[in-house]
Amino acid sequence: MQEEVAIEVSQLKTCRCGYHKHDYHIIPRCRYTWFGLLRMLMGVTAYPEEVYYQCEKCEEVIDRTTDIEVRRLHV
Ligand SMILES: [Zn+2]
Repeated sequence: MQEEVAIEVSQLKTCRCGYHKHDYHIIPRCRYTWFGLLRMLMGVTAYPEEVYYQCEKCEEVIDRTTDIEVRRLHV
């Protein structure tokens, strides 16, 4: 089990500064569709269509996900 975790971490994508997804400098951002924004304006809960992880320094996007479980976290 311990080994599996180590492998997973070493395979994480990093930006050109060397930060990975869980680093302090990597900011999760949400992308909404026009329809999602409309729902928010109406006061309806809208999940972002996509969550992407961007480095605040070099602005490189190192990962993106459309996983519903992740999107729920970023409402
Ligand atoms: Zn960077």
